[in-house]
Amino acid sequence: MLQTDQHPFKYDTSVNEKKKKSFWLAMAQCKCPVCTEGDMFKTKATNLKKFNELQENCEVCGFRFMPEPGFYQISLFFTYAISVAIFLVFGTATYYLLNNPPLWVYYVAVFTPSIIATPWNLRYSKVVMLYVFGGVWRSDE
Ligand SMILES: [Zn+2]
Repeated sequence: MLQTDQHPFKYDTSVNEKKKKSFWLAMAQCKCPVCTEGDMFKTKATNLKKFNELQENCEVCGFRFMPEPGFYQISLFFTYAISVAIFLVFGTATYYLLNNPPLWVYYVAVFTPSIIATPWNLRYSKVVMLYVFGGVWRSDE
């Protein structure tokens, strides 16, 4: 059950509750946290020019994806955390799999996946920010 009456922004809550995806699936697919149907982003992550552009409103329920100006600036902490996780995983894997190779191998092994993951990193940082701090609580999960 959504506590939509407590949210300061208006959106359509008539979307069928049974049609809703699970919290984690909706998050993984970058869907609207209210109806779990509308896309949060204008394009796919592989569109390198616009991968980080949010829709103004959910096309299904009308939920506003920008709760307040500068809302997503704090998402840089999630971006940082994801980057550190990538560094740790690939750095550790390089150390053990390649038996502590020269330093330049670490640079290649750590920065290549980090750069490739940038669109997903930035998008999921925003998704997590909206799901955690967007004021939309889904107590049915
Ligand atoms: Zn929606």
